Amino acid sequence: MTQYAVPIRPQPTVPVQGSDRPFPVRRILCVGRNYAAHRREMGGDDRDPPFFFSKPADAVVPPGADVPYPSATSDLHHEIELVVAIGEGGSIFGFAVGVDLTRRDLQNGFKAKGQPWDAAKGFDASAPVSAIVPAIGIVPRGRITLGVNGETRQDGQVADMIWSVEEILVEAGKLWKLEAGDLVFTGTPEGVGPLARGDRVEGSVEGVGSLSFRIV
Ligand code: MN
Repeated sequence: MTQYAVPIRPQPTVPVQGSDRPFPVRRILCVGRNYAAHRREMGGDDRDPPFFFSKPADAVVPPGADVPYPSATSDLHHEIELVVAIGEGGSIFGFAVGVDLTRRDLQNGFKAKGQPWDAAKGFDASAPVSAIVPAIGIVPRGRITLGVNGETRQDGQVADMIWSVEEILVEAGKLWKLEAGDLVFTGTPEGVGPLARGDRVEGSVEGVGSLSFRIV
């Protein structure tokens, strides 16, 4: 057995509903500005197509765990998203509910300077996700919501995505070879906003499930 120079970190995983075999996360791709109303609230041009950024695999927070308020921001934002879990050969393994946590103040600074978004998007514990529901051949198109302390903040329809799930996978496939273990966050509807320590965040996607976590 290979001996490594430093200890190997545990494989990040997400539970799979109805199975005792967890989903091993390989990497996390995210789509930006995939809902027109959110693109407008972010100051985007209506002609700008969606695009990709990424988070490290170990940014996932499994269901049930608290999310620590991250360092170096005073404007942590929620973005509720449908998540596609990729299976063998780049197929759709299943779907989950995820929140693309964002250091909005850092992101605005990076945008202004034309700098990369990594520290605004790919920080530790920036990707809480629900259990993965294995796909049954139906791609979710229904309601997507997020509430904070019982107050609805985001309430959209997956059907309003600019790139559909199928189109996202085609576009991603032009840039990367999707492999089993990849998670793809598909973008957020309008209504993003700030989170504070002590907030209870609850998200849902119709036909997929729900996610709940606390900011600590
Ligand atoms: Mn997002």
